[in-house]
Amino acid sequence: MSISLPAPSPPASAGKSIRGNASPNDPLKQMLQEFSCLHTKTRHTGMQEKFFCGYPLNRENGVCPYFRGKRFAVPILKGTVALLRFLWYPNNVKAAILYGPKDVRLEEIGTPKVGPGEVLVKIEAALTCGTDAKVFLRGGHPRMITPPAVFGHEFAGVVEKVSDGVEKFRAGMKVVVANSAPCNQCFYCRRGRQSLCEDLLFINGAYAQYVNIPSRIVKQNMHIIRKNLSFKEASLLEPLACALHGIEEANITAGDTVVINGAGPIGLLFIQLAKLKGAYVISCDMVEERLNMAEKSSADEIVNVSEVDDEVETVRKLSGGFGVDVGIEAVGNPSVWEKTVSMVRKGGTVILFGGCAPGTKFTLDTEFIHYGELTVKGVFHHTPYYVEKALKLLHLGKINTSCLITGEMPLEKLEEALNKIISHQGVKTAIIPW
Ligand SMILES: [Zn+2]
Ligand SMILES: [Zn+2]
Repeated sequence: MSISLPAPSPPASAGKSIRGNASPNDPLKQMLQEFSCLHTKTRHTGMQEKFFCGYPLNRENGVCPYFRGKRFAVPILKGTVALLRFLWYPNNVKAAILYGPKDVRLEEIGTPKVGPGEVLVKIEAALTCGTDAKVFLRGGHPRMITPPAVFGHEFAGVVEKVSDGVEKFRAGMKVVVANSAPCNQCFYCRRGRQSLCEDLLFINGAYAQYVNIPSRIVKQNMHIIRKNLSFKEASLLEPLACALHGIEEANITAGDTVVINGAGPIGLLFIQLAKLKGAYVISCDMVEERLNMAEKSSADEIVNVSEVDDEVETVRKLSGGFGVDVGIEAVGNPSVWEKTVSMVRKGGTVILFGGCAPGTKFTLDTEFIHYGELTVKGVFHHTPYYVEKALKLLHLGKINTSCLITGEMPLEKLEEALNKIISHQGVKTAIIPW
């Protein structure tokens, strides 16, 4: 935040000053010297230039009040601006702090310190997400957030400050950042399974005005966004990268029938990605508003599971009686995991993407898995590869973002926006912190 105060403007007549290039004997100049100030309008370096500013001269002081005032006013104003910046700007950064279950407070914190290889990003938009809603309800996250802490993880903004060792980014660049980066050294990273990294570094604090990006994330998962992509749209990068990871694991081929259980933000992204693969898509949910969004996301069949007797039977019928080629679970409920497996045909693939509560279990029919040669996969999170690909899809305009971002709210209304997710109103809300 910079404050620029206007310099005092000279009197109107000063703009039409008479140039002092007349001869020393010029009677007009002599007359003006008697009554007018000699300071130059353009450069106040003394009287050398002998421009007549035209201001009535106070002969005792030798200069006009404007010149005299400006000589002191400019340093005083500059000093005041610097002081205000110091007092106000670095310490007055707004951020949402999570204190416990359903206890989030907007507070003023200091600007995050920028260490070597790090980048300070001024957040322009952050999206609400089911994970954040869970974190808000539970008052933290066993792996990511221990309160009191900043939270929120889907965001885009402008580079504010770059520290030593950062070459790819400069202040003023539009950027989007995914919320983690793998170590690339552990057992799993060495086997190319970066989403399973034993030292996955997470970043939180998107519900704020600024966030500091750790060096590892700057190097692997921070990207410049093109002009055609808004900050809100770019903020979809992280959930899109997750969904892309899931869809690639499903090995969908053109003409496949795919069921997607859950039409929340991730389910809707799955619908769009399955359509891009050329699939026939069945979307199941129990919330009418979400199913409307599924329809807008171009799902071919909509099933409101609260209105049918047996959703598994309904989906099997819709796929010609055999079951679907691919079933994707995007709810995070063990009973829906089971149903998703039952909806798939022999030789089909099941992607279990929705994370269930810790300690929960589900049962599988061993006969069906064995004789049906089913592939059942759990998929979690994203990797730098999927983040890059997801950004490409956003830049290409392949994702219908209006189905996913259904509202906009200031940071002050974060709690309301999170409650909207909890009560299934709309899909994602963009939080605008400025
Ligand atoms: Zn998310
Ligand atoms: Zn690792």
